[in-house]
Amino acid sequence: MKSIVIGSGFGGIAAALRLKAKNHNVTLIEKHPDLGGRARVFKKNGFTFDGGPTVITAPYLINELFELFNKKPENYIKFTPLKTWYRFIFEDGMKFDYSGNENQMKDQIEKINKDDVKGYEELIKFTKKIFDKGFTELADVPFDKPLVIMKQLPSLLKLKSYKSVYSLVSSYIKNKNLRRMLSMHPLLVGGNPFTTTSIYGLILFLEKKWGIHYSMGGTGNIIKGLERLMNEQGIKLIKGHEVTSIISSNNKIEGVKLDNQKEINSDNVICNADPPAVYEKLLTKNKFSTLFQWKKKRMEYSMGLFVYYFGTKKTYDDVEHHTIKFGEKYKEHLDDIFNKKKLNNDISYYLHRPSATDKSMAPKGHDCFYVLVPVPNNQSKINWAIEGDKMKNLIIDKMEKTLLPNLRESIVEDFFLTPDYFEKELNTKYGSGFSIQPKFTQSAYFRFHNKSEVCEGLYFVGAGTHPGAGVPGVLSSAKVLDKII
Ligand SMILES: Cc1cc2nc3c(=O)[nH]c(=O)nc-3n(C[C@H](O)[C@H](O)[C@H](O)COP(=O)(O)OP(=O)(O)OC[C@H]3O[C@@H](n4cnc5c(N)ncnc54)[C@H](O)[C@@H]3O)c2cc1C
Repeated sequence: MKSIVIGSGFGGIAAALRLKAKNHNVTLIEKHPDLGGRARVFKKNGFTFDGGPTVITAPYLINELFELFNKKPENYIKFTPLKTWYRFIFEDGMKFDYSGNENQMKDQIEKINKDDVKGYEELIKFTKKIFDKGFTELADVPFDKPLVIMKQLPSLLKLKSYKSVYSLVSSYIKNKNLRRMLSMHPLLVGGNPFTTTSIYGLILFLEKKWGIHYSMGGTGNIIKGLERLMNEQGIKLIKGHEVTSIISSNNKIEGVKLDNQKEINSDNVICNADPPAVYEKLLTKNKFSTLFQWKKKRMEYSMGLFVYYFGTKKTYDDVEHHTIKFGEKYKEHLDDIFNKKKLNNDISYYLHRPSATDKSMAPKGHDCFYVLVPVPNNQSKINWAIEGDKMKNLIIDKMEKTLLPNLRESIVEDFFLTPDYFEKELNTKYGSGFSIQPKFTQSAYFRFHNKSEVCEGLYFVGAGTHPGAGVPGVLSSAKVLDKII
């Protein structure tokens, strides 16, 4: 069986390896000269900047890929568990060190609002129930038939999936800052906590189940290890070439055409590229049913991301590995990003400092960072050629006042990525950071199917298909593929 995988994100690489383990003849095609997609690495003057994912959860999903071929993961990659998972900082000066140490968690909660300790315990118990259903039972189930979702509806309703994550958290927690902290997880997969189904509350428990890890040498080292594994197993890698169309006849896959006009035939095409962009740009000759066209049209997209990468000539030893700083407003700010699609100066941000754990990420005596700010996706029509520099300066100003004094004069290396990069370089519709949003009406059966309903032999893995974005999500999508191909 000949299978082509388009795209080398975590989902695409996992799919290629899983199919190879089933003896498929696998070719993986990546537009860029390097692998990883959102997990690409940018190296500049001794700094190693991981492009995207930095918080590694459920590491067993990565280890499994090596174990498929009886290889020891530790011969390729090294994970280090983090003690403090996130340091949260609020506009009123409150700080919270979030970790897997439940005593320390409850001590901090007690100091903020005594009554919320009990609520926190109850919330964790409830997110375990969601996790058992939504992750353990359903993350790698193919949702390509309506019956599969119909069967699950009663239990999903019992788990209050009609509620948003914020509303679920608020039913247990009273303090405003704690509500924000415990409901922020949808933002990690591209959703607004006020509209994302509470099923995504499972991430809160998923972190607790396996902890939060860092990949020594950066997340890019996982991609490097997986590339070595793919080479050892005889997966053909074509880098630096874009697939320009998917060829089919009578709605059955025949192969793909590349940007150099070369055609490669195959029995299956597995797209790790963003599903809406694939359907619109690579399958232009196929006819879509009215129902499918309606489904595609009604989709709502995740937010965009502004990511500013910078290296400093001094170290900021007080700054944790992962810091989340909330702005003044929360609901209103998210409304601007997701609904009104406009920029707002009252930003919230996530600051990554890998050199806190791994000195190899920066030259001696230097620090390596990236700061990520959620922004509207490109449905906003924001001109990033103008707004990019303004955003960069706004972020530096904000960080100078709180976390990184005298930052501007310490920066020796920097660049930024905007939703334009996600749209033009990674081929993602509207330059969204995480493909379509994780709403109830866009999850499971209602998401883009892993097994395409449009063409036989066409499959999807990655953020836009079931179960969704985030490294554990896209790795699980390759496990779904394993069951249907
Ligand atoms: C800044 C940032 C931070 C994040 N942080 C975390 C985190 O800490 N933890 C976490 O779990 N998740 C995180 N995420 C989310 C996670 O990174 C993504 O959900 C996941 O990596 C997406 O993987 P994917 O398999 O969908 O493919 P992608 O990474 O989206 O890759 C798709 C690939 O397809 C290629 N491609 C597209 N079209 C074509 C074509 N026509 N021909 C050839 N190639 C093509 C693209 O070039 C790209 O390489 C983060 C994301 C971002 C952007």
